Amino acid sequence: MTRIFSGVKPTGHLTLGNYLGAIRRWADEDQHRAESLFCVVDLHALTVDHDPARVRRLTRQAAGLLLAAGLDPQVCTVFVQSHVDEHARLSYVMECVATDGEMRRMIQYKEKTARAQAAGQGVRLSLLTYPALMAADILAYGADEVPVGDDQTQHVELTRTLAERFNQRYGHTFVVPRATPPAVAARVMDLQDPTGKMGKSHDATAGIIYLLDEPATITKKVMRAVTDSGTGGVEYDRAERPGVANLLDILAACTGKEPQTLADDYDSYGALKRDTAEAVVELLRPLQARHAEFSADPSYVDGVLRDGAAAARALARPTVDAAYRAIGL
Ligand code: ADP
Repeated sequence: MTRIFSGVKPTGHLTLGNYLGAIRRWADEDQHRAESLFCVVDLHALTVDHDPARVRRLTRQAAGLLLAAGLDPQVCTVFVQSHVDEHARLSYVMECVATDGEMRRMIQYKEKTARAQAAGQGVRLSLLTYPALMAADILAYGADEVPVGDDQTQHVELTRTLAERFNQRYGHTFVVPRATPPAVAARVMDLQDPTGKMGKSHDATAGIIYLLDEPATITKKVMRAVTDSGTGGVEYDRAERPGVANLLDILAACTGKEPQTLADDYDSYGALKRDTAEAVVELLRPLQARHAEFSADPSYVDGVLRDGAAAARALARPTVDAAYRAIGL
C-alpha cells in the first residue's frame, strides 16, 4: 500500500494556505487512500528565533487543528516530531550524505537568511541543515508520496537525491519518495502582497487568513485585499493581476469551480471579494466548531499524540537502525 508522510511547522497559527495547499487534501483524500502519517514538525520550528512556550502552545494547537480538519486517528497516524527520536537520529546521517552546497542552494534557506539578516538576527545553523531533517522525516517512514504545497517541492527533490545517493553508496535502504503538489491552491498568496505566499511565520498579518480567525476578521481581510489597478473587469492573469488571480484561486478552491470560469462570472472586484470572504467563512466554520470541542478536552488530543508517537516509532525504528548499520555504525 502507498505510504504518505507530511507535516506542518508550529512557527505560527495555521493559515488558509496550509489548509488549502495541504491539510484539506490530507483529510479528504490522502488518509483514505494510503497509509498516512501526519506530523507537527516542532524541531523545524527551532530553526528560527523562537519562544519556547509559544512553540509548545502552537504545537498542541496545530495538532488540534489537524484533527478538527478531519484527520481521523483511527485511520491515519497523527503525532509530534520531537516525540519520536528517530527523526533526529536519521537527520545526522542525512547530513553525512548531503553536501554543504546542496543545502545552500535551497530557496527557502536563501529567503529566510535574508529576512533574518535584515532583522539583525543571527542565522541558526539548523536553518541550513533543515532539509536534512526533512529528508529524515520522510525517509524514516519509507513514504512513497509527500503531499506538499509548491514551496516544499525543492526540499522533496533534495530528499530524493539523498535517498538515491545513500542507496547507491551503502545498499538499498530507503524508498525514494516523490512530492505530490495539489492540483488547486498549490500556492495561496498573501492578500496584501500577492507576489509572496501566505506564510504563517510572517510578521505582517493583514494579508494572512488564519484558520481560527473570526468570520468578521476574515471578511475584513478579504475586503481589504490588494487588487490591481487594471480596468476592464475581472480577469484571471497570475502574472499581470496577481491579487485578483489569488482571490479567484481561493474562491475556486472553496467552491470546486475553475478560476477561469469564475472570472467570467464577475464584473466587479467588490462582488468577487464579498463572495470569496463568504466562501472562506463557510469553509472554515465546521473546522472552527470542531476545534472548539477539542480545545475543551485537551486530554483527548494528548492521547491521540501519545498513541501516534508509539505507532510512528514502531514504523521508523527498523529503517533508521538499518541505515545506521548500512553506513557503518
Ligand atoms: P508555512 O510556510 O506556513 O510555515 P509549513 O512549512 O508548515 O508552512 O507547511 C505546511 C504545508 O502547507 C506544506 O505542505 C506547505 O507546502 C503548505 N503551504 C504552506 N503555505 C502555503 C501556501 N501559502 N499555499 C499553499 N500551500 C502552502
